[in-house]
Amino acid sequence: MMRKLLILVVLTLIVLAGGIPLYIQRSYKEEVVAGPSVTDVFKLSKYFDGIKGTIADTDVFELKGAEEGGKTLIIAGTHANEPSAALLAYFFIENLEVEKGTIYVIPHFNRSGSLGPQPGGGFPLYYFVDTPWGEKKFRMGDRGFQALDQWPDPDVYVHYPDGQLLSYIDARNTNRSWPGRPDGYLAEKVSFAAMEMIRNEGIDVVIDLHEAEAMYPVTNCIVAPEKSMPYAIGAAFYVKGREKFENHVESSPAGYRGLSHREIGDWSDAYPFLLESPGVHLDQITAAKTPELIIDGIDPFVLKAGEKGLLFVPYDENGFSMDRRVGQHSSVIQEILSQWTKKNPDRGFKVSAPKHADIVENGLGFYFKDPSEADEDKVFLQ
Ligand SMILES: [Zn+2]
Repeated sequence: MMRKLLILVVLTLIVLAGGIPLYIQRSYKEEVVAGPSVTDVFKLSKYFDGIKGTIADTDVFELKGAEEGGKTLIIAGTHANEPSAALLAYFFIENLEVEKGTIYVIPHFNRSGSLGPQPGGGFPLYYFVDTPWGEKKFRMGDRGFQALDQWPDPDVYVHYPDGQLLSYIDARNTNRSWPGRPDGYLAEKVSFAAMEMIRNEGIDVVIDLHEAEAMYPVTNCIVAPEKSMPYAIGAAFYVKGREKFENHVESSPAGYRGLSHREIGDWSDAYPFLLESPGVHLDQITAAKTPELIIDGIDPFVLKAGEKGLLFVPYDENGFSMDRRVGQHSSVIQEILSQWTKKNPDRGFKVSAPKHADIVENGLGFYFKDPSEADEDKVFLQ
């Protein structure tokens, strides 16, 4: 009897030791200070009340310029274990200046995934960015919706409306759930809400931000379907020429369904782009997945793989830092919008934010505002 009781106590302690930090992380809020161009903050359920009150409902920041122009939606956090996306979103919310057109920014599109790490992935619960006023703390998330919020998984995930059979795990993947449907899985509902926003607002450009492994071919690139291709090629060409970094273009495969860069363009008038920056913390072969690895992207095993020619990005002992990844996202987005504006002046944009070279030189943290110094009504909890 005593032995059984002892086993029960030990098991309870193990569950509590593992569960309490996850519980605390799920309620930890990131802070963002609305910058000078933020004109409104509202919930995505404004366009589809089927997600209202659910974990999937997420904040949309509107940055509207004084001059009428086009509309762009920037989606971050589709995969919440690819943090340069959410950090770019916060960086834009705090720093982007919009004179013409409207930019909408969603920091945590897959909000459920942002509230907990990947089970068995070995990732830390948080990562940290150094700022002049101290360390800024962020949640490390999961790729898909958490099973806690969408369960059980089907044996096979049948894409709607195409009927293509996808892996069961992709039922929780908000980059296989496009164009979504109002009565599907929660992941499909949130994509449907975004499609409704894109159609009802008449969004011109949609940019979905990601990170990918250095050992995966579709990394450090812009993925674009046929209609977006001229803008993507122009942007890749200009960042290479003017800003001296590589960012190639990949074409969106027409036969692979559910992805933002395919379905958004097929189911609306918008021009979609998916941006990948290299996050080596995602590579399977790394040493311990520490908060530092997420930020500095320095790993001895990835370096070794690079020496053997196994990487698809330029990589050396300096790693691939968060400053570079967010900097690339910032520059490529601004260049896509500039290319777009040249061909569509009536639906154009005039926006500006620090670019790749500035962010690499000053560090990303330099641009984050201290929430304790900001007006209370400017601080938003995410
Ligand atoms: Zn991704």
